Amino acid sequence: MGAPDGFVVHDSTARPQDLPSVDRLLRSDAVAASITTHGHTLVAAEARALLDDLRVRVQAGAVSSTEVGPLALQAALAARIEERLAPRMRAVFNLTGTVVHTNLGRSVLADAALERLMTTMAAPNNLEYDLETGRRGDRDSLVEELLCTLTGAEAATVVNNNAAAVLLTIGALARDREVIVSRGELVEIGGAFRMPDVMAAAGARMVEVGTTNRTHPADYERAINERTALVMKVHTSNYEVQGFTAAVGEATLSGIAHARGVPLATDLGSGSLVDLAHYGLPREPLPQEMVAAGCDVVTFSGDKLLGGPQAGLIVGSKEAVGRIRRYPLKRALRMSKLPLAALEATLSLYLRPEHLARDLPTLRLLTRPVEAIRAAAEALRAPVAAAVAPRFTVEIVAMQGQIGSGSLPVERLPSAGLALAPAGTSRKGLGTALEALATALRGLPRPVIGRISEDRLLLDLRCLEDRDTAAFAAQLDFLDARLR
Ligand SMILES: *Cc1c(COP(=O)(O)O)cnc(C)c1O
Repeated sequence: MGAPDGFVVHDSTARPQDLPSVDRLLRSDAVAASITTHGHTLVAAEARALLDDLRVRVQAGAVSSTEVGPLALQAALAARIEERLAPRMRAVFNLTGTVVHTNLGRSVLADAALERLMTTMAAPNNLEYDLETGRRGDRDSLVEELLCTLTGAEAATVVNNNAAAVLLTIGALARDREVIVSRGELVEIGGAFRMPDVMAAAGARMVEVGTTNRTHPADYERAINERTALVMKVHTSNYEVQGFTAAVGEATLSGIAHARGVPLATDLGSGSLVDLAHYGLPREPLPQEMVAAGCDVVTFSGDKLLGGPQAGLIVGSKEAVGRIRRYPLKRALRMSKLPLAALEATLSLYLRPEHLARDLPTLRLLTRPVEAIRAAAEALRAPVAAAVAPRFTVEIVAMQGQIGSGSLPVERLPSAGLALAPAGTSRKGLGTALEALATALRGLPRPVIGRISEDRLLLDLRCLEDRDTAAFAAQLDFLDARLR
């Protein structure tokens, strides 16, 4: 046979007839072993998909004959199966400098919460079963006492997230009636969550009072009438109005509302149950202060500063919380047993405030001394530099992080970390080089997420705790191949 001189040698390019049938591929010993591990369904589906893909590429003349050999096919099939089974939701290193990062899953759960999940989810549990009476129980009661102890409220209930808590509160207390809110508090939280839209979705009519920068007691007094069902305060957590401003505090407002027989609800967003000022952090209003000020309902998130799972916490008077609990939408927005178990364990940590900064990751990270962060940077500078050399240089720099999740957006957390800069790259190539580095870091077994700022890639090490440094350093070896 043999090809004429000067012709492409054909036996290095695979032909359609070189591809085995699905059955033949499945009968090979290596693949039979894979079937024993994974079962026929998955292996056969991936084998079929692999051969389909190859057939298209073979027809285009884009496949070498070694690629369709038995060993190559077995390896390709094994890789496909591994990729199919690999989790899409994965742990990452959050080196963005934003501690409670909404895109990165917000708060990291405490060890106590993780342990609680393991023990209560691996077996049946008393989610809605009263162990004293042996009768049907109420899932809310599992955390109500804790929430009441911690906030001083008479009653408490929990739902899927704080957006749901707000929606439910407005719906239960003010459907088909009027809700009074200051123009300075018509916030957008992000996504489609805008206070006016939430009011509409809950079936309430919003009555705006005051102006963007100033709202006075008389504005509320004038607006309350027989159609008013609720006065609403919204904590403007993700922006700040500065300068010539005035707002009416909850204590004053509850007096005004209650004098006319109208309840007051406050949406805190990020509800920290401890005064962050004690830890040298900027202060956030506390749910317990709102309860003490006379709010009938206070809503806040479980996974922002509270440091727990996604949850919407509702505390307040027996009367208002009772109405919320009985509202039909509550059933649709109720919490699942998973976050509920984690929430209970997280809330229990607040009973031991002396240990909170040690046991609650969110607070531990927020209060991590800058010296400790700088020490981590010093320990990691050389290994990181070795992994990215000679393309990038690495130096230790002071950084400004933030709390995140819309909490205290104007406050900065002094931090430290590594700044990676392209070595000897023209200004034009800088952006591309930095993007390539960011991509390589995201491609590591446990993806590393930094941020690009001023021609450098910054790795803020506040959230890389000592117990994680070894895992971080161990995977740096993969970086070199990814940067090529
Ligand atoms: C974050 C936030 C919400 C929404 O809370 P989720 O738990 O994310 O649903 C609502 N209101 C305010 C003021 C917030 O800051």
